[in-house]
Amino acid sequence: MAAFELTHIGNNSEAPLQADLDKCVHCGLCLNSCPTYRELGVEMDSPRGRIYQMAQVVEGKTPISETYIEHMELCLACRACESACPSGVQYGKLIEAARAHIDQNISRPWHVNLARDFVFGSLLSSPWLLTAAGAGLFLYQASGLQKLMRSSGILKFFGRLHEIEMLSPPVETPFFFSQIGKVFPAEGEKRYRVAFLAGCIANISFARLNEATVRVLQKNGCEVHIPKEQNCCGALHVHAGRKDDARALARINIDATLDGNFDAILTNAAGCGSTLKEYDELLEHDDAYRDKSLAFKAKMKDINEFLASIEIRPPAKPLVMTVTYQDSCHLCHGQKIRAQPRKVLAAIPGVELKEMALSDLCCGSAGIYNVLHNEMAMGLLKNKMASVNATGAECIVTANPGCMIQLQAGAKLHGKDQPVLHVVEVLDRAYRG
Ligand code: SF4
Ligand code: SF4
Repeated sequence: MAAFELTHIGNNSEAPLQADLDKCVHCGLCLNSCPTYRELGVEMDSPRGRIYQMAQVVEGKTPISETYIEHMELCLACRACESACPSGVQYGKLIEAARAHIDQNISRPWHVNLARDFVFGSLLSSPWLLTAAGAGLFLYQASGLQKLMRSSGILKFFGRLHEIEMLSPPVETPFFFSQIGKVFPAEGEKRYRVAFLAGCIANISFARLNEATVRVLQKNGCEVHIPKEQNCCGALHVHAGRKDDARALARINIDATLDGNFDAILTNAAGCGSTLKEYDELLEHDDAYRDKSLAFKAKMKDINEFLASIEIRPPAKPLVMTVTYQDSCHLCHGQKIRAQPRKVLAAIPGVELKEMALSDLCCGSAGIYNVLHNEMAMGLLKNKMASVNATGAECIVTANPGCMIQLQAGAKLHGKDQPVLHVVEVLDRAYRG
């Protein structure tokens, strides 16, 4: 039985634009950078193949079929092909449009719709629901049940549940939601006034990372505002084709920061940053928000980008450790930020960076891809850990919470249980001695 039904053909308002598709000259220079093509060797799971399929659908030569949806959904949206493309194809824009186009033209089974509506329409944007979900997960983890499940190996009898369970994010109490709305003063002379967008799931699973981010900013002379009305950035919604939900969230975040007179608006999550910096594309047809989204974009920065652009206050003592750095896809391919996190690490005395091979190849995280396409994600993770292990580094460093969860599972399954830290956490540890 088909997993969906085509409801009506020809609703093309979200479809990829012909002009964007036409930029692809089918040269194939992107193929070797594509994780799914490298794994499967299938043209239709390469960037060139996917663009060809999108063009066929947009031109009305083929319908939105189940096969088409599968090829679009198996894409990690990692945008490595965008970095490799000499013709300037904006693949990220294309795949987001293709998924939104699918979403507006098909009807999924009722229970799938219910689950998607709950996750994208309610859970991610509700601090209360996230707190409740976090409390449930905390009980599972703190009661010892998680340890029992993992050590007994019982989950291995339920398909890929063992691997998926390894990806459940560790819950960190107290949740960062309690800090939303607060202002943290600069340490010493005030140099900047910044806003920090704390994310959605990160408030329950990366509360300590968010705190470290605030401390590092304070240490560097920033007055840190955590705007009260902020919400989820909408990145997961965009990746799932739910552009209208993402647009609503974009308007909320723009309004939350618009009148703050901030020098910069910051995120510590590469996946969020990529979407936050593209609010102008999301809202290009919204007359009331077009200019506001451009003003927002001008101030939006990844934390690494911001720290590398100011003079970082040097830590007083060295932090002696070897690290290897995994480029988060949405930082290096989505935002073209590669040198800045390395510059921050280089500013920490005692930290030695051991570069891994193919550091900019996706680790398989890709938002919730690792849950939805677990087999592919775990294959990519295994390869990634081979690169990590070959460096002999004591610690894995990256710049995106989603990658951290994936790499933590990788370190347990295929590594030496190396700690996984965000760049900001390494700097924070150095400051705290
Ligand atoms: S996306 Fe770029 S690199 Fe890939 S086939 Fe098209 S033009 Fe060539
Ligand atoms: S976004 Fe990543 S997975 Fe998708 S086609 Fe491009 S390189 Fe391949």
